[in-house]
Amino acid sequence: MQLLLRANGQQAAITMESAGDQVLVVGEHRYKPVQIARKVRRYATQMWGSEIGSEILSERLTFEALDGGRPSGPWTDSGSFSPRSGSFVSLGRWDEDSTVGIALHELAHEMHLRRGGYDFSDGVLREAVSLLAEREAGLMRSFEREPYHTASHLIAQLSELPAFGNQSFVKRWNELMDLTNDAALADLVNFYLDKSERLGFDRWLKRFTDNLELRDALLSKLAVTSLRYSLELRRQLIGNVVRCGAEITPDQIVRVLDSVVTLDRRYPNDDLGRIIDFCFAPHARRKRRLFAFG
Ligand SMILES: [Zn+2]
Repeated sequence: MQLLLRANGQQAAITMESAGDQVLVVGEHRYKPVQIARKVRRYATQMWGSEIGSEILSERLTFEALDGGRPSGPWTDSGSFSPRSGSFVSLGRWDEDSTVGIALHELAHEMHLRRGGYDFSDGVLREAVSLLAEREAGLMRSFEREPYHTASHLIAQLSELPAFGNQSFVKRWNELMDLTNDAALADLVNFYLDKSERLGFDRWLKRFTDNLELRDALLSKLAVTSLRYSLELRRQLIGNVVRCGAEITPDQIVRVLDSVVTLDRRYPNDDLGRIIDFCFAPHARRKRRLFAFG
């Protein structure tokens, strides 16, 4: 791994693995380059095994320490990745361990590229893949700007669900490698929520229709509707679908979901949970009241 030092218009490159005891102070943080290199290599090997060739770490990942620790350019505040020039991680903003997390974030973009998915994925999925990797290295960030905000939100939800979160990193990584967009990621959250909490949605859907295309269409409609939902709202949405009576048609379900979206947009200050219940109410299976006079 290379570390570029820039000061007073001069530039020097050092190989981090052979930096010995050298300590580097950038801004308010102290770094041991040899230690950063060791940690990054350890995590990368744990996550991707032999798939991470040594040439990726030596040629495609560069750390840089700039004059006075001030980052320049819009994306260099922590790290950046481009298919052409690889990954850059700036020292100065984060402490050593978090910097290791940033490096794993950028390396995940590289691994995604090599798996062939990077070019076909939308921004949310690209960042989700990398946020999964940085979490694995112990870094947890929250974001306000997109696509990071939605990506971190969905990855945090997935990680919270035991059926997903308790799987090995390789399994979790491979699941994300099969996806290309934000809706597919939301669908994965719904799938693992159903699986983790036995909401009965999978069973309901199989009973509802044999038609695989129709099942897919309903799943993706549900995913798009719930893209920005919390786990609590997802639970409520899925719970309402499962409680629909057998006579509901696919078109009716789609209309109900559309009305949830419309009302949510029209009354942004209203409680979304109540809007969901309200829209599904006409289709809820009536509980048989056996002891009506009790
Ligand atoms: Zn990224």
